[in-house]
Amino acid sequence: MTLVNDAAPPAVRSTGRKFRAYTAKHLDELTARAGLSADQRLAIRAVATVLPFRTNSYVVEELIDWSAAPDDPIYRLVFPQEDMLPADDVAHIAGLLRRQAPRQEIEAAAHRVRMRLNPHPAGQLELNVPSFGDGVVPGMQHKYDETVLYFPKQGQTCHAYCTYCFRWAQFVGEPDLKLAGDDALQLRDYLVAHPRVTNVLFTGGDAMIMGEPVLRRYVEPLLELEQIESIRIGTKSLAYWPQKFVTDPDADAMLRLFEQVVNAGKSLAFMAHFSHPRELEPAMVREAVRRIRGTGAVIRTQAPLIRSINDDPKVWETMWRTQTRMGMVPYYMFVERDTGPRDYFAVPLGRAYEIFRDAYRHVSGLARTVRGPSMSATPGKVCVDGVLELAGEKVFALHFIQCRDSDLVGRPFFAKYDPAAVWLDDLKPAFADRFPFEDMAVPDRR
Ligand SMILES: *Cc1c(COP(=O)(O)O)cnc(C)c1O
Repeated sequence: MTLVNDAAPPAVRSTGRKFRAYTAKHLDELTARAGLSADQRLAIRAVATVLPFRTNSYVVEELIDWSAAPDDPIYRLVFPQEDMLPADDVAHIAGLLRRQAPRQEIEAAAHRVRMRLNPHPAGQLELNVPSFGDGVVPGMQHKYDETVLYFPKQGQTCHAYCTYCFRWAQFVGEPDLKLAGDDALQLRDYLVAHPRVTNVLFTGGDAMIMGEPVLRRYVEPLLELEQIESIRIGTKSLAYWPQKFVTDPDADAMLRLFEQVVNAGKSLAFMAHFSHPRELEPAMVREAVRRIRGTGAVIRTQAPLIRSINDDPKVWETMWRTQTRMGMVPYYMFVERDTGPRDYFAVPLGRAYEIFRDAYRHVSGLARTVRGPSMSATPGKVCVDGVLELAGEKVFALHFIQCRDSDLVGRPFFAKYDPAAVWLDDLKPAFADRFPFEDMAVPDRR
């Protein structure tokens, strides 16, 4: 494995092997490779009964630096850690695994722990699912006027899971926690009935886990709709399986589908999730980016700020510069959401702002398309613009990048500075009794 920029990059096709997933079954063998003791490995298997684990041969062989594991950031990005969950819970489940307790008993214990991890932050299951015709539209979220999210049933996994993923609940065996739809015509009919929607965002999981014929079924009916300006695809595939666009059997067909979207007069916005600059290094990624851009698609990049993985301004500066050099457009830096092992990964808002600013001030204007640090909270996306002293009080300056009530977008507001605050809920209004969004009427989308 090479992670440095060698003068002669390896031939792109040489890593084009067939996709091979690693799951909890392989965890013991892989964590042994990271040099962990038997007890540590058992604790990690215990964590993996609660939180999902999945990776693949490309991540394992091309991205992880095993000589630095278990501290390597890419290792930490995909492998569960012992201290992600309360020690009592880990010890209890490890005990069950040690004495080979029945599966149902282990699953019941894991379920209890999951329910304490706020599996659907921002009221995902209740708040955003629109009603239409005879009932709700499964697998859809319509939070902002102009954009709907759609979760195709066949897109509800990823090429590998990130340990910090806020959609982790989609990947564990909890049917009540899943968002998924498989009715492409219902999606189209909903859009026709809601002509203000101009953007459709396919997400998951990972929309790029789908094969070309399946994705086509969802995308093609939208191409006839004049109102649609953009089709977005939320995906980590460029980082975790770039072969999808280069050597997979449907790679060429997928690129033709992207081209077809562009030729229909729509923007195909490929929303690429990159968490660390190392994910940009392999020759396979560069080739995949080149091929996707060749279709006329625009690649925009986003990721959350994650403690112990990318909480360093240099990491973000390198990512944004490299992405810009590769023709991608930096889009969002997110704040880690209030779900799953968030205490483990959270970066305080004050520190997040410093990291953002320190990276942002060192990149050219072309990379300053990025916005953040941004919290995707219940009322909308809130950006931390700065920490300052106003009228003798230390405050956070904030604004809505997106809001359920579009009238609040772009209006500055203030919160009392709190060095420990990690989320909107931790903040108290400054110079006012209430935040502007507390009196907001949630629009009825029926
Ligand atoms: C981020 C997001 C969008 C898209 O917002 P943009 O600012 O247009 O990128 C749409 N819906 C939800 C629920 C979101 O979180």
